[in-house]
Amino acid sequence: MNAQATTQDRERTALGPIARAGVRPRGRLNVSFEFSPPKTPEAEESLWTAIRRLEPLAPTFVSVTYGAGGSTRERTHRTVRRIHEETGLKPAAHLTCVGASRDEVDAVIHDYWDAGVRHIVALRGDPPGQIGGAYVPRADGYNNATELTAAIRRIGDFEVSVGLYPQVHPESPSAEHDIDVLKAKIDAGATRAITQFFFDTDGFLRFVDQVRAAGIEIPILPGIMPVSNFKGLQRMAGPCGIVLPDWLSELFDGLDSDPDTRRLLAASVAAETCAKLEEAGFTDFHFYTLNRADLTYALCRVLGVREPEDKS
Ligand SMILES: Cc1cc2nc3c(=O)[nH]c(=O)nc-3n(C[C@H](O)[C@H](O)[C@H](O)COP(=O)(O)OP(=O)(O)OC[C@H]3O[C@@H](n4cnc5c(N)ncnc54)[C@H](O)[C@@H]3O)c2cc1C
Repeated sequence: MNAQATTQDRERTALGPIARAGVRPRGRLNVSFEFSPPKTPEAEESLWTAIRRLEPLAPTFVSVTYGAGGSTRERTHRTVRRIHEETGLKPAAHLTCVGASRDEVDAVIHDYWDAGVRHIVALRGDPPGQIGGAYVPRADGYNNATELTAAIRRIGDFEVSVGLYPQVHPESPSAEHDIDVLKAKIDAGATRAITQFFFDTDGFLRFVDQVRAAGIEIPILPGIMPVSNFKGLQRMAGPCGIVLPDWLSELFDGLDSDPDTRRLLAASVAAETCAKLEEAGFTDFHFYTLNRADLTYALCRVLGVREPEDKS
């Protein structure tokens, strides 16, 4: 190591983890963004404002969710197609197999192929009514994301991403079982895992160590959720098997009518998570944008991800 590098390293280490973003070489990290299909013309406009704001950050891909039980099939398809046709972004369509026959699911996969879409996020979906409730597959349907992944790969040379649960899937008996399921999905053709969001970063890192120790080498993208609606998060977290740490509840306590402070806190919590993951060697990050650009855009700056022409 030469003298100059040593000085630079010393200066960099003296900074806090977020300030280090300012002196980090750019372009080393990859980001991807998740959106939901909009319900109203107003929501569509605000989604597209977010997409246009984030597009110059050159994400690896942007994904579009599929409503519970396939309820947004048309809207998801329309949004994915528009992204494909009107932007330079690579869209990834979420697809679930719950409540649908194999023929119906295959038809959706063929539609995506014909539209030029080449990346699908393959998911089973939740049982109707209650996340974590008993899942009963249809006799003529795919049983799980493993079978869905195999079907997608049979139909076309798609890139297939799958879900992964750092705090264990609510229906799963153990992390070991989840890791076996991930292995089966990889054998079926999955090439990337995107994780459920989490707040216990150390627990996440331990889980990923366990996945790697099992010989799994595909990229694992931590799902980063900058949460400013803490009440909403509390409602969603339990059924999804996500444990909210006490420090997080404390942080948001008493702020129900103070959205500005909640957004500032959401940004700082997620920034700390990103900085810690980057220091642990992660190079790929997936953001749950909730169809807004501002927090995700700021977090990308923390990771040193900027518009290529931005020299500021
Ligand atoms: C990144 C991400 C994005 C998501 N996006 C959406 C979305 O857009 N729309 C939506 O409705 N939901 C979405 N979900 C939620 C997801 O549908 C639920 O968590 C669902 O309960 C499980 O989906 P999965 O694909 O992980 O299921 P699977 O991988 O199929 O696992 C579910 C259970 O099936 C069993 N299983 C699976 N494969 C095998 C196998 N080979 N052998 C034995 N048992 C097996 C296991 O018991 C496992 O616990 C998302 C989740 C994540 C992490």
